[in-house]
Amino acid sequence: MGFDSSSLKSSKTMENNSVVGKKSKKDKANSPVVHLRVQLDMCSKRGDVMGAIQLYDKAIKEGITMGQYHYAVLLYLCSSAAMGIVQPAKSGSGNRPVLNNGKLVDFDNSLANGSTKPYYLEDDEIWVSEDVKKHALVKGFEIYETMCSNNVPMNEATLTSVARMAMSMGDGDMAFDMVKQMKPLGINPRLRSYGPALSVFCSTGDVNKAFEVEKHMLEHGVQPEEPELEALLRVSVEAGKGDKVYYLLHKLRTSVRKISPSTADIIVRWFESKAASRVGKRRIDQKLIKEAIENAGGGWHGQGWLGKGKWSISYTVVGDDALCKCCGDKLALIDLDPIETEKFAESVASIAIKREKNFSFQKFQKWLDYYGPFEAVVDAANVGLFSQKRFMPSKVNAVVNAIRQKLPSRRWPLIVLHNKRITGRKMDEPVKKALIEKWKNADALYSTPTGSNDDWYWLYAAIKFKCLIVTNDEMRDHTFQLLGNEFFPKWKERHQVHFSFSNTSPVFYMPPPCSVVIQESEKGHWHIPIASELDYDSERTWLCIRRANSHAVKEDSVAITEDSQSLNRNKEHTKSTTQTEVNSNFLPLNNGNYDKPQKLAEEMYKNITSISFASVSSDQHTVLSEIETAEMLGNCVIDFQI
Ligand SMILES: [Zn+2]
Repeated sequence: MGFDSSSLKSSKTMENNSVVGKKSKKDKANSPVVHLRVQLDMCSKRGDVMGAIQLYDKAIKEGITMGQYHYAVLLYLCSSAAMGIVQPAKSGSGNRPVLNNGKLVDFDNSLANGSTKPYYLEDDEIWVSEDVKKHALVKGFEIYETMCSNNVPMNEATLTSVARMAMSMGDGDMAFDMVKQMKPLGINPRLRSYGPALSVFCSTGDVNKAFEVEKHMLEHGVQPEEPELEALLRVSVEAGKGDKVYYLLHKLRTSVRKISPSTADIIVRWFESKAASRVGKRRIDQKLIKEAIENAGGGWHGQGWLGKGKWSISYTVVGDDALCKCCGDKLALIDLDPIETEKFAESVASIAIKREKNFSFQKFQKWLDYYGPFEAVVDAANVGLFSQKRFMPSKVNAVVNAIRQKLPSRRWPLIVLHNKRITGRKMDEPVKKALIEKWKNADALYSTPTGSNDDWYWLYAAIKFKCLIVTNDEMRDHTFQLLGNEFFPKWKERHQVHFSFSNTSPVFYMPPPCSVVIQESEKGHWHIPIASELDYDSERTWLCIRRANSHAVKEDSVAITEDSQSLNRNKEHTKSTTQTEVNSNFLPLNNGNYDKPQKLAEEMYKNITSISFASVSSDQHTVLSEIETAEMLGNCVIDFQI
């Protein structure tokens, strides 16, 4: 985390007014308070924590009254050093001090005694020695105490710095307390404020506290992103918490959609675990599941784990027919429904109307009503600037002609272009003018006015007409962030056409045949897309995860009754609350002859219970290993619930 001065602007002004406001400009520049701030800023830029501490000691000795800004710089430097890495302020500010590249960074372990630079360090980061770490931590807390006793107001940056110092000592409770202090002080916690507490609880395996942090985040309007969800997933998998893993897969599905390779590794570890083979409903009401999938808009039912037994995990691809090349399941295609589309179009229009002057957006809406509908929209600036800085109408022309051939009606697409591209001096060449004239005559060109943001125009038109938008703009900048996460990612995936050029002919990358998002099937199987560099990678890798035994999922009509019998006998046998259930999914139950398998199951059940309960009083570890042996012998999973 670089030092983020933006959150300190208000305090800067406050301090100027209260301490030096009445003095002349010259006095102000020479005042010890301002001088100290300049010097601290220089330490921050150099990442010089020891220099900053010396300045602090000197200021205390000389009785200089420091403000929030001074303390914030000092605490930032001390907390960075306490964690082992100081990043000079000039290199910009990341939001995530703890969770780097999707990996939970354990500063203590990785930096304590190794001699190689950890992979996540950037060139300008300074790795401090053990002595400096210890000293910075002690001084950091001293500075925090002074700040408290002098009643200097806290802000998000100072409290987060203290939380980072707590993290460096492995004190998750203290790190969490720092975030909890924010709201009562009128401070809004940020995503980075939660990093220290979450990091400690996740690395110490404290699932409950890690999820307390997550709950606090949500209650304060902070949405965890993939690194935070990955950390929560890791701790849940390690603890074998099936319900938490299920919950997190849902969170990843809605907020991340396709996951990073490191998150995929954790998911694979989960499905390979014993805990994963034990979770799940054996009796499934298919009608209920189907309804749930429909209500969820496809690709998800949310009814919990289905089936039972070991999982089979494969890395695979999905064909152009949306069929999984591994299991043959058809993957869902999830688009906005008509009502959602209308709501989404309205919200885009209302933002655009507020931002565009002189009713220009309303004029555009009227124009669309008159000249529409269109089957495709072309973001002409993006196309015309493809792979070079100069706007090339010939590229737009090539794309427009080629996309027309793909449309059922062969109608012209709508070409949205800012008028500066049309009236610019470079557009005087006759060939370019002729192209513009051609589009105008076809009623296909809309030129957005001076001062407008053409993004709103092509986006709105494509949503309104539920049609394709040709652009390589990934729509990630602040304009699109205003649209939120509810509709936009779904819509974008189904409607965006990427393009490139092969020689001079355009090549189109149409929307993928199925939705590239974590999918849960009605059988309880999973298809999980892994993120790649290109958003429109046709050879995308998917995880296909099914129960190894296809008989694991049975409808009510085929459900067998031996489970309940086993449970009853089990209770009589042990006279305790311990329940042992033998899962006999491995048996061929669909052959119409139930007698033989049932006898087999009873035999096996007897053997297993005699092994496990004989040793239950002696040693817990022995029980576990006995059960594992029994599982190996029986090639099945014993569900052991306490
Ligand atoms: Zn599959």
